[in-house]
Amino acid sequence: MIRKDIDNFLASLPNDITLVAATKYGDKNDILDLFNHGVKNFGENRVDAFLTKYEELKDNQEIRWHFIGHLQRNKAKLIINKIDYLHSLDSLELAKMIDQLREKPLDTFIEVSINLEENKNGVPYYEVEQFINNLKQFHNVHIVGLMMMAIKGSDDTTTQFKKLRLLRDELETKCNIKLPYLSMGMTDDYQEAILEGATHIRLGRILFDLN
Ligand SMILES: *Cc1c(COP(=O)(O)O)cnc(C)c1O
Repeated sequence: MIRKDIDNFLASLPNDITLVAATKYGDKNDILDLFNHGVKNFGENRVDAFLTKYEELKDNQEIRWHFIGHLQRNKAKLIINKIDYLHSLDSLELAKMIDQLREKPLDTFIEVSINLEENKNGVPYYEVEQFINNLKQFHNVHIVGLMMMAIKGSDDTTTQFKKLRLLRDELETKCNIKLPYLSMGMTDDYQEAILEGATHIRLGRILFDLN
């Protein structure tokens, strides 16, 4: 069930920020509820859950589907022509798959590992420049920006978000590319992310009444 004061909550967000509602805590009816309150962008992080929700909601042409979780190469073909945005590109192999499978260019965020945490996804921050240069051969992979997940680490979340923004600024010059979007900020840290330049925040728990 979505939170009762959803309208007030949505009104509290800056107008120029895109809210991507993370759907993992909700079902089809929750998504429709959010849609009726003005949320148009939805993000799923699991392929099987995405396919179920996509089928249930495919009559709604106004929903924009984002895939925000790790995408395994062998599952890419199941979803790649159904989504509008991918937030989690993290390998050249996946980019190559997308390039082959996709019918038209896909707006794609590169997931960056800012903290170099072990067993976490994302391109290490110091490899992103090379990664972008290698992506230029894939015409169906249209890079729109960078994505990250903050962690409770040595740096506070504000510092982590700032690192991604500064990396973006640096890459725009070094790679001669436009990276207008920063997908960063979740329930616990979206306010810090907005202050550091997030354009897309991915919110789950805070949209729902979870008991
Ligand atoms: C679940 C999820 C979110 C939202 O997390 P909350 O803390 O519930 O806001 C954001 N991004 C990704 C990739 C997720 O899987």
